[in-house]
This record gives sequence, structure tokens and C-alpha cells, in this order.
Amino acid sequence: MPIPGSGLAKGLAVTLRTMTKKTVTAQYPDVQPELPPRSRGVIGLFEENCTVCMLCARECPDWCIYIDSHKETVPAAVEGGRERSRNVLDRFAIDFSLCMYCGICIEVCPFDALFWSPEFEYAETDIHELTHERDKLRDWMWTVPAPPALDPGAEEPKEFAAARKSADKLAAAQAAEAAQAAEAAQAAQAEEGAGPTRPGQDPGPVQNPGPEGGQA
Ligand code: SF4
Ligand code: SF4
Repeated sequence: MPIPGSGLAKGLAVTLRTMTKKTVTAQYPDVQPELPPRSRGVIGLFEENCTVCMLCARECPDWCIYIDSHKETVPAAVEGGRERSRNVLDRFAIDFSLCMYCGICIEVCPFDALFWSPEFEYAETDIHELTHERDKLRDWMWTVPAPPALDPGAEEPKEFAAARKSADKLAAAQAAEAAQAAEAAQAAQAEEGAGPTRPGQDPGPVQNPGPEGGQA
């Protein structure tokens, strides 16, 4: 048999306990929430890295990535070389009213052209506005946080080695060019110093050896 008034006492105890607990109410939008660094807010496009391979659009389970492109012919880099063709991006858009934030597009992109940004304040009153075109996707790139630092014992990313190799190659080409220019300048100086007889220049007095071998 329950003691009369015990229910009320229990209820009051719960009220008291709750009153003394720290509040968890978020005062958004007056106070911005502290989001984890890898939050999935919106997708940013780093257009320069995109080769229009279409992998992201093909793998997206919601079919909400729209890509248009055309082919362009690039002239041969060296004389006698072959012309090449490349894809040029015309349109890249993501419909965030369909996107389910699975991150597959970002995972499959082989050229690091898509990134998560923690920005989430892009609600619209018109659903059509939720299709973000390439310019807007590019703008989101400025809100993408920097990648975390590598672990001290981590292997160096292969991109670093590739970048170093390109920089070394460029430096070697520049050094070879500078050496060639210096050699050419030295040769020109040496030629000037030797004073070669130029056409029309007086070669100076010439002794006539005479019929007896030059004896006066
Ligand atoms: S996050 Fe998922 S649903 Fe959204 S665009 Fe990328 S692949 Fe499609
Ligand atoms: S997977 Fe990456 S490189 Fe390929 S089209 Fe998509 S964003 Fe561009």
C-alpha cells in the first residue's frame, strides 16, 4: 500500500534534481553551437582539382550532383607531339534538398575536389535555392577547416614528394637555363676581347718581306 503523498514527494524530488542540474538548452541562433571539426554541413568544390571524371555523380545514391562539360583540344606541348583533349567543366551543382549527407561523393573523388564544410546555415524558403551551383560551391571552400596535423610518426603524403619532385625539376631547368645564358655571355665577352678583324676594319701596317726574304 503506497504511503499517501509519496507520489508528490517523488515528483518534487525530480523537480529539485532537475533545477540543480546544468542547463543544456542551446541559445541558438544567439549563441553558435560548438560543432565537432568533422561536421557535415555543406559540400565545397575545389574546381581546379576537378577533372570532370563524373565519379561523384555516378556514385551519389540520390543522383543530386549535376555535371555538364565539353571537350577541348590542347595543342601538343612539344613540336611534333600529339594533340590532347581535356574535359572542361561547364556546370557543377549539388541539390541539397535531395542530398542525404552520406559523404560518398567526397570519399570517391580521386582528385580531392570535394570537401566537407561545417557550415549549416543555408536554409531557404524556396526549395530551388537549395541547388547550389559551382560558384556557391566554390565559396563554401573558404569555410572548409584546415586538415589536422599529421601524427609525428606518419608517413609523408605522396603529394609532398610529387610537389618536391616538380619543384626540383623546375629549379634544375632554371639553373640549366641560367648556366647557358652565362656561357653565352662569356663567349660573347671573349670574342669582343680578342678583337677579331671585322670587314672594313684596317688590319694595320703589313711588312713586305721583299725578294731577299725580308732583309733590308
Ligand atoms: S553527400 Fe551523398 S547524397 Fe549528398 S551529394 Fe554526396 S553522394 Fe550525393
Ligand atoms: S569525382 Fe571529383 S574530379 Fe570527378 S567529377 Fe566529381 S568532383 Fe570532379
